[in-house]
Parts: sequence; C-alpha cells; structure tokens
Amino acid sequence: MPLKKYIRDIQDFPKPGIGFKDITPLLSNPIARQETLDLLLSTVKDKKIDKVIGVESRGFFFGILLAEALNAGFIPVRKPKKLPFETISATYDLEYGTDTLEIHIDAIEKGDRVLIHDDVLATGGTAKAVCELVERLGGEIVQCNFLMELSFLNGREKLGDNEIFAAMTY
Ligand code: 5GP
Repeated sequence: MPLKKYIRDIQDFPKPGIGFKDITPLLSNPIARQETLDLLLSTVKDKKIDKVIGVESRGFFFGILLAEALNAGFIPVRKPKKLPFETISATYDLEYGTDTLEIHIDAIEKGDRVLIHDDVLATGGTAKAVCELVERLGGEIVQCNFLMELSFLNGREKLGDNEIFAAMTY
C-alpha cells in the first residue's frame, strides 16, 4: 500500500508559507496504520529495545504502539512543566527563538537500549535534543525512527552516527 496516500499536505499551517504534513488520515485508517507500524518494527524487532521514547505530542501515537509490540517501556518526552516528577531538560534552536524538552530523571536506567520515535524528522533539532537527554541519563540509542523524513531539510546531519529509519521519505 502506498502510505504517502494517507499523508495530507496542508499549506500555510501553522503559519503562512509553511507546508505541513498531516498524519491524521494515516491514524484514522487501520490498514495503513498497521502497515506503518510493521514497517517501523521490521528494523528494530530483534534489537532488544528496553525503552521507547515518544516525543510530544504526535510521537506518542506510534510510540505507544511500538512499545507495546516490542514489549518495552514507554517514556514520554514533553514540553516544559508537563511532567510531574523531577526532570532534566534540553533546549534547542528554532528558526525564531528556542524550544525546550523534558524527561523524568528516572525514565532511563544506565545501559538501557532506547528507541526514539517521533512523527516527522524535519531540521533535526527536536530529535537531537531528545538524543542528548537519553545520553545524559546513560541510555544507549539503538535507533531514531520516524513516520517520515523531510530529507531536503537535512535533519539527519544533526544526528551524528545514530541509526535513522523513516517509513516514508520526502
Ligand atoms: P525538527 O525539530 O526536526 O525541525 O521538527 C520536527 C518536529 O516538528 C516534530 O516533533 C514534528 O512533530 C514537528 N513537525 C515539523 N514539521 C512537521 C510537519 O510537516 N508535519 C508534522 N506532522 N509535524 C511536523
């Protein structure tokens, strides 16, 4: 099944001049959703993943599905002041300004094998900040995976030697 059929292009969202890839048609179709999940799982299912990280908020959808299928823990990485327990944070640059992500300090044990998941790899700033959080807690990043990679934004270059997989590439 061509999965890209289930990704809708929205012009001028969230701001004029930006083209946004909308994943809600994919989420609402059970066959496309299962196929996407199977594709993501195909490259990590034998890699003994201990924890799957889902990045707020669209990384939560498939993050939970991946964790369930891999019999791994699920760890939310969230925007500031959303997590109730003690956190560490990483700040990264946006086109205008900065953004911050947080993780609970006890979310990852030293040596845990971690899969990082988000819906889109664009400029790579978000995923790089999440990698930094995992490394600071002593986790071993096995793979960063995404529903789609916007390859023309070169986000991969920010992620160094980490293994990257995307179910779709634009
Ligand atoms: P980056 O930090 O790589 O530039 O941006 C990735 C983050 O922004 C992801 O958390 C993703 O949810 C969001 N994002 C950026 N562009 C898009 C897009 O076109 N569609 C969707 N669904 N999310 C996007």
